[in-house]
Parts: sequence; structure tokens; C-alpha cells
Amino acid sequence: MGKPTGFMEFERKTVAYRPPNVRLLDYNEIYTAPEEAHLHTQGARCMDCGVPFCQSENGCPVDNLIPEWNDLVYQGRWFDALDRLHKTNNFPEFTGRVCPAPCEGSCVLGINNPPVTIKNIENAIIDRGFAEGWVTPNPPKFRTGKKVAVIGSGPAGLAAAAQLNSAGHTVTVFERADRVGGLLMYGIPNMKLDKGVVERRVELLRAEGVQFVTNAHVGVNVDIVQLQHEHDALLLAVGSTRPRDLQIPGRELNGVHFAMEFLTSQTKTALDLHYTGTANDFPATAQSAVGDFFINAHGKRVIVIGGGDTGTDCIATSLRHGCTRLVNFELLEQPPVTRAADNPWPQWPRILRSDYGHEEAVTVQGSDPRTYAVLSKEFLSDGKGNVSGVRTVDLRWKNENGRMTFEEVPGSERVWQADLILLAMGFLGPEGTLAKQLEIQTDSRTNFQASYGKFATDVHGVFAAGDCRRGQSLVVWAIHEGRSAAREIDRYLMGETVLP
Ligand SMILES: Cc1cc2nc3c(=O)[nH]c(=O)nc-3n(C[C@H](O)[C@H](O)[C@H](O)COP(=O)(O)OP(=O)(O)OC[C@H]3O[C@@H](n4cnc5c(N)ncnc54)[C@H](O)[C@@H]3O)c2cc1C
Ligand code: SF4
Repeated sequence: MGKPTGFMEFERKTVAYRPPNVRLLDYNEIYTAPEEAHLHTQGARCMDCGVPFCQSENGCPVDNLIPEWNDLVYQGRWFDALDRLHKTNNFPEFTGRVCPAPCEGSCVLGINNPPVTIKNIENAIIDRGFAEGWVTPNPPKFRTGKKVAVIGSGPAGLAAAAQLNSAGHTVTVFERADRVGGLLMYGIPNMKLDKGVVERRVELLRAEGVQFVTNAHVGVNVDIVQLQHEHDALLLAVGSTRPRDLQIPGRELNGVHFAMEFLTSQTKTALDLHYTGTANDFPATAQSAVGDFFINAHGKRVIVIGGGDTGTDCIATSLRHGCTRLVNFELLEQPPVTRAADNPWPQWPRILRSDYGHEEAVTVQGSDPRTYAVLSKEFLSDGKGNVSGVRTVDLRWKNENGRMTFEEVPGSERVWQADLILLAMGFLGPEGTLAKQLEIQTDSRTNFQASYGKFATDVHGVFAAGDCRRGQSLVVWAIHEGRSAAREIDRYLMGETVLP
């Protein structure tokens, strides 16, 4: 274990983000580089628990060997820590940056103390590994002659491709976008995950033998039946891409967009332009280069409807564009500051969290942008086809026999002015085309039906993993699903599996 008395000697201290007023001036990652001495003491806090709940069902979905690498970092054995980290996680540089860290929510230290800074330590190990040149391509020693097509290049597809390739299968990843990475590329903004970090990993996979075909919209410009004939197995890893809409009067007005339209236009334009300037001058440059494809928040009053990671990313991007005011609506009531009685350890703590975008909004506007328990009733028009605001009503939530329901508060109507409204209300499942063309079953939530553990659909040789199977979730779950589906595909192809 780390230092036996470490958890009593040292306080939890996370690696700081860059100050909000500084990071708001660019689109670079928000993180600072940690000091080695800092990680040494944070690793020392781990108690190497007899039952490490950080790795339990409520903890890390990929079963990261957390106490082992906490100890190795404490001992300064970084190379060994990297080796242990890669045993369970293909892409720790993604989870180390963007994971909400359920492991920390279930860390035993968290019962009566702040938990170990597991996520910081994970990120430091992999960043050190890249900096030292320890992360190199590791192609398989032999090929099985079996061919697998992976459709979708998000974390689920990439993790499956990495694993199947390591087992010697010939893997081709088909991606409809012009760049590989799924929501790691077009979704999560550069501030949270630099796109160079995504491309670096894709290049490693390429060097290991994984083939990528971009602009390949399977079911539209690539024939799915032909793919079936040409491959021994197919993996559907197409994500949950149907956004939840808000069909209220005025939805058709200009200036009401889905969050993903906004975030994709930002990242794609910045990458296409090789943009290296500042946040302040980006909107004008982008607008003149790509016109209406770029959704510009500069000089606008922005309302983000919906919270979560997507809502936060819209807030942070709008602030960098230079919006004049930002408001964020949440349907639910404000969560408690500490765990409620019905939300005990080691469950994920359902508490009030202030993410990087909220902190930045406070810096710019002086107050938290979130307004809770509010329902949008109508988008208002400026009379020229553009949105000019939204009419809302406040909600009162109540628990009826264990089910949360709400009622509108009489007389609580409000009108909020806005020039840009971003809908960040979650996703409803995969698009229907592939299920229809392959004639595979979907579940009651329209996800591809493929039971957890097997990942096989009812069509022979067709598997499903990630958000398109489990519903919208997290990067770490997508990696877990990709790895697990790869194991089942390997078993299907070879009769047994060599994959962990
Ligand atoms: C804005 C945003 C921010 C997020 N932030 C976080 C975060 O901070 N932390 C976290 O853990 N999770 C976050 N998430 C959730 C996380 O990104 C997803 O759970 C994860 O990416 C799902 O991985 P996936 O591989 O299943 O699907 P995706 O990442 O969605 O990838 C699916 C890929 O399939 C492609 N595709 C779809 N249909 C086809 C087709 N017919 N042919 C070819 N290609 C196709 C898509 O273009 C896409 O590239 C965020 C989600 C969003 C939307
Ligand atoms: S639960 Fe916390 S203290 Fe215990 S082994 Fe895991 S990280 Fe260390």
C-alpha cells in the first residue's frame, strides 16, 4: 500500500485547473501539469483496502487496478504504474481527463474523509507514459485471418478495435464523420479533451494495424449487407445520436439548436482552420470562413436548456465566444450539497457539483448560471423568424410513492430574452436505419437489443456495444462495453477467447 499513515497525514488536494479568467481566453485544455511530489502524497493516501470499493460494482466500470497503481505512484515506479493501468483501460488519457470518476464516489476513504484523487493519478500516469515515450505501438504477433467491421469510432468502437486487433483479427472501423473519435472528437470540447490527444491514440491504433474508413455512413453510402458478407463479424458501436427535442411552440424559429450542432460546429471549424488564435477572435474568423455552419454565440444572450456534461460544454463554449449573457435551465430541483439519506456511500453521490463551465460563468457574470425547477413552455419570436426569448413556468417537485413528479407553480410564468437557445436535454438512442436494414430487435428504449455480457444481437455475427446498446452513458462505460464485446466476438470467431 501507499504510506500506512498517509490518509491521516495528507489532505486530499486535486490538481488545479488553470484560473477561469486565464483559460477563458483560449480553447486549450483547462488542466495544469501536476507536480510529482504532489502525486506522491496523494498516492500515499490510498489505504489498499481489503475490499477496494473503488473497483467495485459502484466504482470503476473497467475494474482499474487502482490500489496497485496508487502504490506504484507513491513509490515513484511510474513505468510499472503505466503497465498496470493499461491492463484494464485502453485509453486512460481519455478517462483521466473526462471521467466523472465513480471510483472516487465509492472510495472507502470517502466514508468519513475526502476520497483519494484517483482520477488525477490516472491522468498523471498516462501523461507521463507519453512524455517518456513509453507508449508505443504494439502490433499483434500473428493474424488469425478473421475480419471484423466496427461501425462507429467512439470510445466503444475504438476499445473493441484495439482489443480485437490485439487478438490478431483484421479490424476495419467505419466512421460517418470526417474524423475518428465519436463524441471524443465531435462532442466533448477541446477544453476538456484536446483533439491532438484523441488523434495521438488513433495513430497508435493505426500503427498497430487497425484500419479506419471515414466519411463512411453505413446504411447510407456503405452497404451494411455487403459489410456482413465481407466480414466474419460486425460490431455496432454507433452511439446514442438522436437528441431529445423540445417540441413547444416556436421550435422552428432561427436560433434554436441542438447542443451537438453547436459543439460540432465549434470543434470542426477550429480543426479545419488549424486555429491557433484566441477565443476572442475565433467567432469572427470562423463565421467568415464557414458561414452559417458555424453557430456563433458572440454578442448573443444564450440560454442552455438542460444540464449534465453537454450543458456545461455549451456554457463553456458560449462564454469563450463572448456571449453577452448566459442562463442555464434545469428541469430538476437543485441537488443537496451533501449526500441525502437515501443516497449513502458507496453509491454515486447525487450532490450539487460545479463543473468548469459553471465556475467560468461565475467569473464572467458574477453568479451561477443555473436556474432549477423550470419548464420551458414557448419559444418567442422577434416577428422576423428569429427566436427572441422563452416563456417558462416554475415547477414544484414531489415524491409520490417513490416516484418523482412535478406540478406547475401557478402564477410563476417568466419571460427570458435570448438570441440563441441550445437544447442539451439528452439522447434517445441510436438512429433506426441500421436496426431496420439488419432486422435486429431493439429494446423498449429503442437501443439495440444485445444482452449485457453477451453483446450479441439476434442476428448471427452482429454485436452491439456502447451508448447504442446501454443508452447514453459515459466514456468509461463505452470503453468497458467495447472491451467486453471484443471478448465475446473473439469467442464467437475462435471458439474460445484470449482477451481479458
Ligand atoms: C457533449 C457531450 C459531452 C460529454 N462529456 C462527457 C464527459 O465529460 N465524460 C464522460 O464520461 N462522458 C461524456 N459524454 C458521454 C460520452 O461521450 C459517451 O457516453 C460516449 O462517447 C459513448 O461512446 P460510444 O462509442 O458508444 O458512442 P459515440 O462516442 O457517440 O460514437 C459513435 C460514433 O458512431 C458514428 N456513427 C453513428 N452512426 C453511424 C453509421 N451509420 N455509420 C458510421 N458511423 C456511424 C458516429 O458518428 C460516432 O462517431 C459526453 C457526451 C456529450 C454528448
Ligand atoms: S477504496 Fe480508496 S483507499 Fe481503498 S483501495 Fe480504493 S482508492 Fe485506495
